[in-house]
Amino acid sequence: MYKWLMPTLEELSQRLGRSKLHHGILLMGDIGCGESSLAIAMANRILCQAPTGALACGKCKGCLLFKAQSHPDFHEVTTDKTQIGVDAIRQAIDKVTKTAQLGANKVVLIEQIERMTESASNALLKTLEEPTDGTFLILTTNAPQYLLATIKSRCEKIRVPMPSFAQSESYLLEQGLPVPTATELAAYQHSPLLYAEQYDQKAVNFKAFHDDFNSLVDGALNAHEAAEKWKDAATDAVNWTAQLCMQRFSLNVKQTIENSDTVVGAHWMQGYDKATVAGKKLRQAGLNKTLILAALFAQIQI
Ligand SMILES: [Zn+2]
Repeated sequence: MYKWLMPTLEELSQRLGRSKLHHGILLMGDIGCGESSLAIAMANRILCQAPTGALACGKCKGCLLFKAQSHPDFHEVTTDKTQIGVDAIRQAIDKVTKTAQLGANKVVLIEQIERMTESASNALLKTLEEPTDGTFLILTTNAPQYLLATIKSRCEKIRVPMPSFAQSESYLLEQGLPVPTATELAAYQHSPLLYAEQYDQKAVNFKAFHDDFNSLVDGALNAHEAAEKWKDAATDAVNWTAQLCMQRFSLNVKQTIENSDTVVGAHWMQGYDKATVAGKKLRQAGLNKTLILAALFAQIQI
């Protein structure tokens, strides 16, 4: 379990112990906050037969079956598809309408519930309204804005926090990874988990992009060459361009105030705006990513 999520797990576990835990728990957080680990730890804790604190004991029959992924009272809705359909939800609900086989509790886990179709949401709604005894629904999402209001209102909403910079730093040190600067971590939405992932795909990382960005600005790198190089990571490249333009803009403004010169940051503010527009274009299907990037990169060259 990630350390920055322990206070949240402790609070939920305490309430479970006092029988004050809501049967529908919606874990909401930004991508990379670790909500999935929290959901699994909570499911395990609910099914543990001999818990002592916030965490499951790891030794009882319930924990051993959970670890072996064969607990009879645990049902995770999984799908390879982009959407979660009504059949998958009905199957999971069918299983928890029966009495618990091992302990008293049953858990259904559904991750990224914004992927549910409307009929799937309605099927889930019924269970949220009339849960059977000892049933807990643990739901996660990175995009609560896409959920039906009725789903949100029938759950207890838990905001999953992103770690502080110090927490991220100590997590990455424990993983044996180099500690990023604040700017580098910001390039990964302040998530040490997303930052750590870059080590699996070494060519596509913020450091490499930052170097190319500087070369573009200096004119040492051609906009078309850079676009060709970054087209497979176009969304990252556009987000990082926005971040770096904003950083240069802030620096310019600071220097302007210190030297009481005329403002020279307009170029970077334009770059930031162009990056925002490019980001929107990338979300439209069928547009040529290399051309979008080349146009943006040409813009930031002085
Ligand atoms: Zn246990």
